[in-house]
Amino acid sequence: MDRSLPLIDLHRHLDGNVRLRTILELGERHGVPLPAADVEGLRPHVQVMGVMADLPTWLAKLNWMTSVLGDLDACRRIARENVEDAHAEGIDYIELRFSPLFMARPNGLDPAGVVDAVLSGIAEGRRSTGIRVNAIGILSRTHGTEACLEELEALLTRRQGIVALDLAGDERAWPAALFATHFRRGRDAGWAVTVHAGEADGAASVWSAVNDLGATRIGHGIRAVDDPRLLDHLRGRRIGLEVNLTSNVQTNSVRSMGEHPMKRLLAEGILATINTDDPVISGIDLEHEYRVAAPAAGLTAEEIRTAQKNALEIAFLPDGEKADLLREAGRRAAP
Ligand SMILES: [Zn+2]
Repeated sequence: MDRSLPLIDLHRHLDGNVRLRTILELGERHGVPLPAADVEGLRPHVQVMGVMADLPTWLAKLNWMTSVLGDLDACRRIARENVEDAHAEGIDYIELRFSPLFMARPNGLDPAGVVDAVLSGIAEGRRSTGIRVNAIGILSRTHGTEACLEELEALLTRRQGIVALDLAGDERAWPAALFATHFRRGRDAGWAVTVHAGEADGAASVWSAVNDLGATRIGHGIRAVDDPRLLDHLRGRRIGLEVNLTSNVQTNSVRSMGEHPMKRLLAEGILATINTDDPVISGIDLEHEYRVAAPAAGLTAEEIRTAQKNALEIAFLPDGEKADLLREAGRRAAP
């Protein structure tokens, strides 16, 4: 990790990153029965210990976080706390993503209200910490195409507050091509597109994210390593990968950190980056991914630095703000 470069996280789910203490407090306030009454008792239910069988098993951990979102104020609170936590980690710029339907459904909240509350919480966090933050709206494919239309409508009510549209959930059961219409509308609204692909499924899923949905960035995308033609395409089009090292091991998407394809992706000249996915569930933070996970994946200091620079290049930010971030980080590192 080079402190003369901005520290950036491009892939973090704010609805997968709720403080354990907040889960307990919100559970009590909204009368939601939880499996434990204190942080350490709750931890094994929410945090992954070791490796899960597969991605859907891992995703089940998220349910404790959304079950306690009893009102819109709870949604605002977790969004604000995500920005505060990013600031506490030393992050200069973060893109926080969320699925309004995923947050709304357990307690029957209005999805458009959730979007509003999340963006208000992010704005509060931005004001109190001074870090740069952008929001990415997620369509949860596992809910099906109809429900995702409802989710898209909710996000479109606050079109200006969002920089990009994402597709998350079970990529094997719900192929990207089913959502082509949704993403055409998102692009027409002026949003960039990033899509979860090539994590639990293969390179064909990444091709579809690019060709059918117009993705200019890929969430995970690690299976691209199996397809030389796809690597050429990603390199040529400057399509970046939002890699999440610890998450990939925990979801059993790679067998071990030592076998993670991140090093090969960087060697191929792919714009691969280091991100966190769901820090509370994984029991990590961004510094851990840079200082512990990346070396464990075999990355040299120079490769880690390249990944850090890649994040600035593929961030959903105007060039002027990227230059500002670089200047601020350089000033911080100066003696
Ligand atoms: Zn993700």
